[in-house]
Amino acid sequence: MSADTPVLYLQLPPDRTLSCQHCGIAFVWTGWEQRRQAQKPEHCPGCRRLLAVSRRWGVVKWFDARKGFGFITMTDGTDIFVRRRDVIRGDRLRKGKLVSFRVKEGKNKRAIKVRAQRPQEKQENAQPSE
Ligand SMILES: [Zn+2]
Repeated sequence: MSADTPVLYLQLPPDRTLSCQHCGIAFVWTGWEQRRQAQKPEHCPGCRRLLAVSRRWGVVKWFDARKGFGFITMTDGTDIFVRRRDVIRGDRLRKGKLVSFRVKEGKNKRAIKVRAQRPQEKQENAQPSE
């Protein structure tokens, strides 16, 4: 057995300090993370986890049903990519429609589990009035 085990030198970029666009705290974007994920993270690890499970709101900017994709304008004014396959079955996206969704962060950031809000989703109070 050879004593010369090959050593891989990874050229890692230096760690960087970023501030979270959601809660504002500073967090470290390590060289290793930079290498693995080329896209700069917008949120601290805590918020990333939180935002991944919480639903967001937006309005369909445009959606091309034939091509099967479009964009949603989020409440912060930025647009996010949406594909038909990430829309909950049966829901149709149309320009101006209010939708809720989750954000898939990362290189191919996009809206997932997109749900269109039906017009006048009434929540009728079942309690009889006297
Ligand atoms: Zn945060």
